[in-house]
Amino acid sequence: MTMTTINRTQYLNAAQKSLETTIARGETLLTADGYTIEPYADRPGVYMVARPENDPRPLPKGSSAWNDVDVLNQECTCAAFEFHGTCKHLIATNKAVAEAARLMAPLLPTQDKPAKRGFASKEDFARAVAADFG
Ligand SMILES: [Zn+2]
Repeated sequence: MTMTTINRTQYLNAAQKSLETTIARGETLLTADGYTIEPYADRPGVYMVARPENDPRPLPKGSSAWNDVDVLNQECTCAAFEFHGTCKHLIATNKAVAEAARLMAPLLPTQDKPAKRGFASKEDFARAVAADFG
């Protein structure tokens, strides 16, 4: 094996390019790339992010076919996260969680909504029914 020496600028350029690739992959990981996200029943906020079994890209040496993303602590178990402090798994999971929250929002109770009409007693209920139906 031949070792190649690179200078500081080359290193920074390579790191920048790697980060750009990471961010771009994060955007398409769940769509074009076919990765999946599964929650753990016993680990709230932690998701297993797995590459598809038929992924044509070779798995880099030392890499796992799946990684754990912790959205509460904004961490991932992969090597890219260790290097960049972010990774495609974390970016993709953050996007998926944000989208799920956006879609669920209309279904969730909020403090802005007026309280449902309640009755303190049977007598109050009877009075309200009498008022409604004369
Ligand atoms: Zn990762």
